[in-house]
Amino acid sequence: SWADALLPYLERPETFPATHVHSFSADHVVVLDQFPKSKVHLLVMPRARVGPRGKYLASVEDLDPDNEAHVLVVEQLTEVCGEVEQEMRTKYPQLEFRVGIHTVPSMRHLHVHVISQDFISDRLKTKQHWNSFTSEFFVPWERVKATLAAGQRIKMDKAAAEALLKRPLVCHKCSKAARTMPDLKKHLETHAPLAIAGSSPR
Ligand code: 5GP
Repeated sequence: SWADALLPYLERPETFPATHVHSFSADHVVVLDQFPKSKVHLLVMPRARVGPRGKYLASVEDLDPDNEAHVLVVEQLTEVCGEVEQEMRTKYPQLEFRVGIHTVPSMRHLHVHVISQDFISDRLKTKQHWNSFTSEFFVPWERVKATLAAGQRIKMDKAAAEALLKRPLVCHKCSKAARTMPDLKKHLETHAPLAIAGSSPR
């Protein structure tokens, strides 16, 4: 099904061009989001088959803080996310970044978003898109890590999260309200560094 679209990156990262796979190792793969919601939008995925029945991890809810292999996965993911974020900060010094997951992911295999905070992208179209990255629907990876480090499993309140997706449109930088997505997207341009503003030069 479409929810399994990230599986081939885990299984055969070496078969993808650099336009799809940024980097990979035996333990992880860094994928370019195919529908980027910002100028820079990557997905970091663990390749260890330590999920239920020896499968890939489906989400952070699979992670058991008492399982050594899972603890290792979290450490590796944290390290790779940190490296990727640092690499992108260096490459795009004018951009800010956040690292985290969606409370209710739409894709089946565990993936951590590394996403710049300009949100200048043609693929950013809906209120759900917007709220999924700018409300608490987006959970910082640091929080996931801290919860597991405290010996607790991750349990997501999905009903509360779905409600967040419907909240009114508000700018993540200045809290200005927007009536429609086109209004919001126009407003976002006022925060974007000139070099990355969405409209092409005239
Ligand atoms: P989620 O809401 O599950 O955390 O986000 C899934 C992400 O995967 C979305 O940002 C979406 O744009 C991205 N995506 C969906 N299908 C594909 C695909 O086939 N390839 C890649 N590279 N990204 C995808």
